[in-house]
Amino acid sequence: MPEPGFTTSSLHSDRQFGVEHGGLHKPIHTSVQYGFEKVEDLIGVFQGTLKGSFNYARQGTPTTAALESKITRMEGGTGTICFASGMAAVTATFLTLLKAGDHLVCSQYVFGNTNSLLGTMGDLGIAVSKVDATSVEAVRAAIRPETRMVFVETIANPRTQVPDLEAIGQLCRERGLLYVVDNTVTSPGLFLPKGVGAGLVINSLSKSIAGHGAALGGAVTDTGLFDWSGYPNIAAAYRKGDAKGWGLQQIRKKGLRDMGGSLSSEQAHSISVGSETLSLRLNQCSETALALAHFLEAHPAVGKVHYPALESHPQYPIVKKLFRGGSWLMAFELRDEAQVLPVLNRLRIPIKATGLGDTRTLVIPVAPTIFWEAGREVRAQMGIAEGLVRVSVGLEDPEDLIADFDQALAGG
Ligand SMILES: *Cc1c(COP(=O)(O)O)cnc(C)c1O
Repeated sequence: MPEPGFTTSSLHSDRQFGVEHGGLHKPIHTSVQYGFEKVEDLIGVFQGTLKGSFNYARQGTPTTAALESKITRMEGGTGTICFASGMAAVTATFLTLLKAGDHLVCSQYVFGNTNSLLGTMGDLGIAVSKVDATSVEAVRAAIRPETRMVFVETIANPRTQVPDLEAIGQLCRERGLLYVVDNTVTSPGLFLPKGVGAGLVINSLSKSIAGHGAALGGAVTDTGLFDWSGYPNIAAAYRKGDAKGWGLQQIRKKGLRDMGGSLSSEQAHSISVGSETLSLRLNQCSETALALAHFLEAHPAVGKVHYPALESHPQYPIVKKLFRGGSWLMAFELRDEAQVLPVLNRLRIPIKATGLGDTRTLVIPVAPTIFWEAGREVRAQMGIAEGLVRVSVGLEDPEDLIADFDQALAGG
């Protein structure tokens, strides 16, 4: 038998654990505490000699462990740690692996809250260089002796810039730098960052992976490619066992146990069920989004359309080579900025809401909402036009969506 495919593998993943009573889903384990018959076993859990056991739910439960295992399979990694949100995963990655005096090179095109978090990192003494990661030369030029990590997003929210993912991976390998890729928008349904040399992969589970907009979660996956034995910030306590596990060992202890942004079993279950249809959803929304992008691009009232799978997209060759689809994220500008709010108000199907990767199409004007706090200067630096509209394309019938945009653009 060949290795099972992506969806086959994730659908049957829960049953790898010998689920109680033959249930097809991993049950929702609600216990915070886990007890032992023998005190020696309790000691073994604390000393890391009793593997596969649970202790206190802040560090994980059987239900979150099943989800971690599923995401590890999806990303082709060696291990995963789940968090209460995507931001908790990003924060834990930064705070557990970087120290005051270190330097982080980050794409200047990142999720707004990640961008805001970079300011906090600066306050803590971790220097950050924000660079145009669509150019590997910009990344190379920013590297200093104290650089430890390079961070990019596969498709940047909201303007859909795509970094030079392979070339940056090659550069990180040459320089021994930890390459962290936020795969939220593409998700393992469309792209595996391991293939371009990422050491760690971050996913907001709230978006593509859950898919239903009914649960928050985040994950960090180790691809097994990074050599942790040479990473200077691993504490002595976590330099135990095979060096391949050191990074996640430290992220779990410092990021989950100490910082406490832990995913609940209920949310893990909800995410896990949603994830079963990941590949089907991402294929469908990629197809619908491309049809909508073509329609918008041809419409006389529309200025620019930013969608990675459009041939007019500056990074189209990279997208075509690396991603199995363009995903759900799209942004566009109207020729007449004054028409943005009236057009959005005339839309009947898309919901005026923030949020991404839902089954329902969501629309939001970017500058007065999610990038309001950032200010005009940061918006300009991130390539965000004042009239930019973000669309998260859902699973509605494509012809209904296109007809709705058509009537909204035509006027009342
Ligand atoms: C939404 C998002 C996050 C944060 O995820 P939450 O689950 O909402 O905390 C991080 N990165 C990207 C690219 C995102 O789109």
